Amino acid sequence: MEERRLQVTSRLGLHARAAANLVRVASKFQSNLTLQRLDGNGEEADAKSILSILTLAASRGTALRVVASGVDEHEALDAVVGLFSRDFDETEKPGADLPPVTQEFRCKGLGVSDGIVIGRVLRLQEGTRDVYRAVIDEADLERERRRFRAAVRLSRRQLEAIKHRAEKELGRGHAYIFDAHLLFLEDAKLTRDVEDYIVKERANAEWAAKVVGDRLLSIYTQINDEYLRERGSDIEDVIQRLLANLTGEGPKYPNLSEDAVIVSPDLLPSTIAELNLDHVKAIATDAGGWTSHMAIIARGLGLTAVVGLRNFYHRTRTGDRLIVDARRGEVVLHPAQETLSQYQLMEDAHGPTPAPVGPVDCGPLATLDGVQIALRANVELPAEFQAVRDFGACGVGLFRSEFLLSRPGLMSSEQEQYETYKSLAQAAGEYGAVVRLFDVGGEVAPDAKQRERNPALGLRAVRFNLRHKEIMRTQVRAILRAGAAGRLSLVVPMVADVADIRSSKHVIDEELERLAAEQASFSEVRIGAMIEIPSAVLTAERIASEVDFFELGTNDLVQYTLAVDRGNDKVSDWFRTLHPAVLYGISRTLQAAEEASIPVIVCGEMASTPAYAVLLVGLGANDLSMIPAMIPRVRAVLSQINAAEAREVALKCLGLATADDVEELVRNEFRARWPELFPPNTLPKALE
Ligand code: PEP
Ligand code: MG
Repeated sequence: MEERRLQVTSRLGLHARAAANLVRVASKFQSNLTLQRLDGNGEEADAKSILSILTLAASRGTALRVVASGVDEHEALDAVVGLFSRDFDETEKPGADLPPVTQEFRCKGLGVSDGIVIGRVLRLQEGTRDVYRAVIDEADLERERRRFRAAVRLSRRQLEAIKHRAEKELGRGHAYIFDAHLLFLEDAKLTRDVEDYIVKERANAEWAAKVVGDRLLSIYTQINDEYLRERGSDIEDVIQRLLANLTGEGPKYPNLSEDAVIVSPDLLPSTIAELNLDHVKAIATDAGGWTSHMAIIARGLGLTAVVGLRNFYHRTRTGDRLIVDARRGEVVLHPAQETLSQYQLMEDAHGPTPAPVGPVDCGPLATLDGVQIALRANVELPAEFQAVRDFGACGVGLFRSEFLLSRPGLMSSEQEQYETYKSLAQAAGEYGAVVRLFDVGGEVAPDAKQRERNPALGLRAVRFNLRHKEIMRTQVRAILRAGAAGRLSLVVPMVADVADIRSSKHVIDEELERLAAEQASFSEVRIGAMIEIPSAVLTAERIASEVDFFELGTNDLVQYTLAVDRGNDKVSDWFRTLHPAVLYGISRTLQAAEEASIPVIVCGEMASTPAYAVLLVGLGANDLSMIPAMIPRVRAVLSQINAAEAREVALKCLGLATADDVEELVRNEFRARWPELFPPNTLPKALE
């Protein structure tokens, strides 16, 4: 065995291309060659493995020990030392492989929740598939390994072709990165570990590649050196390619580091539901608006989120430092030291709203003139159930159950659903919970490939349920059974008219009969209709006579009344909650319900904005459902106003022509009547 001490003198340290050259030189010898850091914990790397070398994160100035052992150890050591002294034979002009621009870059979007977060980018792109675990028979393990090797070969051919093209079009200085990809791909640390995993765990090749890839990635996200850490996204790239070649599609979610900020062109709610949320600090997406489901969930989970950033995703790399400032609706990529220091001071003060400590007000509130108003919770995931009590909600006004369908094409079983609804009922307590039948389709289509041309107008919600009756029946049965264990109601989403209610009730009645025949434990539940499309508003009287209650979904009501896609940032300027047509729809629905003596829960995002909540009360609402964290704020405001005054303002609004007119009136009236309750930033902004 022979060893030497060396120092890394090249400007970028032992970066990807340098490491690639080192692997090439080291691999010519039979001896084992290892590098060991002389500082820190003495991390060691195999000089024949690019993945191993890069995890050393050896930047300029790092002192290393090189150890060679084997028949040609002397020559091997000489060759490696020579390479170090020649700064890894880098022939490119200085600057040819400078890291991508890392100057501070700000991008404006729409802040859809509270908080300021400093974290690291984790890029996620929709459209790729999940990787599932399969257990392989002993006899088939060899075939599985061959399948993996074939995917490696195919990936290599693809990368060589890309490299060739990059050399021609961009020059050698830029094509080197594909050399590194090729080395990653053939690195024993990857290939051997995957094959070992297949055999040891009797796992399918996709699963083995994902587990091993995730492990490697998690090492990279912890590296301190900015430039070297970026190689994590190259590894991510290679793993994605491998998985794509194995499955015909790609995998979805890499491992999450502690301070991950999910950056994505768009994010399906099902994706969020599948992420390990303990590690996600914030979300930044190119698409989306205030009422897109992703934004709603982010708020519900207390995740800081900025949406509508347009072309931001393409500017990022996994591992980049990023500030997400939801208060200003802004993100800052590669923040300068000064910016970072400013934000570090703010980060703690402006985190998402924590649950209040100590007892909170609960039960219905009363306005100054004695109108009783119930504030309920909207929840999506079991993780939020605890918040129902923490924030003093009168039970659950809306459980968006479709998150039980989070995996593509996969529905929770009747028993799993039953357990979820039972714990929901327990969390909701005496006031009970309303379970919405699956509102699938539209932006929450379970499978990207199955999306329709015009999903918001397609096979969504009740239409989906009536077309997929087995899914509907399973859910209905689970709700009816859980109804025996707590107070549950059921609401049918997106009904167009009373025919949708009749068809739904028919299915529910059949399941009631079946449960009775089976002598199962179950309970009849109250049945409501979501009023959220204009035809339902215009026929509200008819629907009211056949249901026990209404839920007013203002998010969709705005979308469908104004024909503005709620998730499309390009038309977000036209998404006007205070449009007179929307207010008229709400007023009409509330009146129809009053005449039929049925209650109405207003459960769109509108209810959680204090100024809008006042208008809703003015229009006659007395039951609002919202993100739990917003309840204390809305409670504080509503208990300090007169409902009669709110009514005066609301009536004036109904007589106006445009959303601008309504917003102006709201600003003026609210400032004059309740100056302490509504500081300027809590009212609709004036046009600039
Ligand atoms: C709504 O449309 O206002 C609503 C409450 O339902 P969702 O946001 O889930 O469509
Ligand atoms: Mg809706």
